[in-house]
Amino acid sequence: MGRRKSKRKPPPKKKLTEPLAEQFNCPFCSYNSSCEVKMDKRRNLAKITCRVCQEDFKTIIHYLSEPIDVYNDWIDMCEAKN
Ligand SMILES: [Zn+2]
Repeated sequence: MGRRKSKRKPPPKKKLTEPLAEQFNCPFCSYNSSCEVKMDKRRNLAKITCRVCQEDFKTIIHYLSEPIDVYNDWIDMCEAKN
């Protein structure tokens, strides 16, 4: 039915910046990009884990939360502790 050419999806235009990195520097061991964020949006939970020193942190997220928010929460919590 006239659909011979498969159209490529246009890239999303909502962001001007690069996609958000999901790896961050560790506030404990200061290793670069050693912390990986896993977003579990179905359960509204996120976990960030450092693959170098194994520090981890869990927090509650919302559907708009980004990995950077999880990371910022972690940093805030670390600073609050100190
Ligand atoms: Zn670490």
